[in-house]
Amino acid sequence: MESIQLNAMAKINLGLDVLRKREDGYHEVRMIMQTVHIYDKIQLTRKKEPGIFLTSSLRFLPVNEGNLAYRAAQLLMEEFQIKEGLDINLQKNIPVAAGMAGGSTDAAAVLIGVNKLFALGLSDSELMTRGVKLGADVPYCVMGGTALAEGIGEQLTRLPDMPDCYILVVKPAINVSTKFVYENLGVNDLPSEAHADIDGQLQALEQGNLSALCDAMENILQTVTEPAHPIIGELKTAMKKNGACNAMMSGSGPTVFGLFDREEIAKAAYWEMRKDHPEAQIHLTRPCAGTEWIEQEA
Ligand code: ATP
Repeated sequence: MESIQLNAMAKINLGLDVLRKREDGYHEVRMIMQTVHIYDKIQLTRKKEPGIFLTSSLRFLPVNEGNLAYRAAQLLMEEFQIKEGLDINLQKNIPVAAGMAGGSTDAAAVLIGVNKLFALGLSDSELMTRGVKLGADVPYCVMGGTALAEGIGEQLTRLPDMPDCYILVVKPAINVSTKFVYENLGVNDLPSEAHADIDGQLQALEQGNLSALCDAMENILQTVTEPAHPIIGELKTAMKKNGACNAMMSGSGPTVFGLFDREEIAKAAYWEMRKDHPEAQIHLTRPCAGTEWIEQEA
């Protein structure tokens, strides 16, 4: 095989709780992760000339070790002493620095692709063990679908598929630093009612109950981002006004998503949001039951 094309899917958090800040500075989280059908296209091609050569559709992204896709390839190619070279082409579609794990899912796709292209024979769980060295969300991105993530995000439990629905994703044109959000969370001082109802969401998923799942949607990081960036609260209100069952920020933001049970209402909301927020990146999408990585082999 000379080349492989993969679709690297984005995620949203249906619920996000931070339990405490550990002594080593890491935060212990409890999150419900969900893959959605928004994806970057990644083409991997073997070449004779040694080295990793990355190109991307977004000029401002790093094309060296600063890019998680590059680091993922480097990690496996060094471990398995691959002497050949690799071209990586990234067609970015997932909003960048959005709370949708764009970089992590690219890294996961490259781990999957390099494993296949060079016939390394690693299992998914072996790829996940390596992936955590690149980022806490990478193992989840290898796994995909609906999952509970605990620890720093790397302890994963597969959950029943999310009930089918329509997901309206809006990434406003602001930047939110993940570091700023966690530094200002003060989780050890937050009252218990500020915490997200992750158990409620687990129960709703067991029952396949979309309305109960929506009722339990909460992201503790909003306690920091909403006061700092009022647009996040405004987008949530607009989504609900346009018929969303509920709306919430994903990850550390600033992306806001709304869940809809009816297609025509979701489509109407999509056009309303596009009209009112022309500067935002907006996608109407659906949940994905798992990863559908490989699009084409050649
Ligand atoms: P998370 O949800 O895991 O916090 P995110 O959606 O907030 O992720 P990313 O899109 O992964 O954030 O990007 C964060 C930063 O990582 C960007 O500013 C970018 O410079 C860098 N980066 C490195 N590799 C990539 C990549 N392949 N795609 C996007 N950003 C990347």
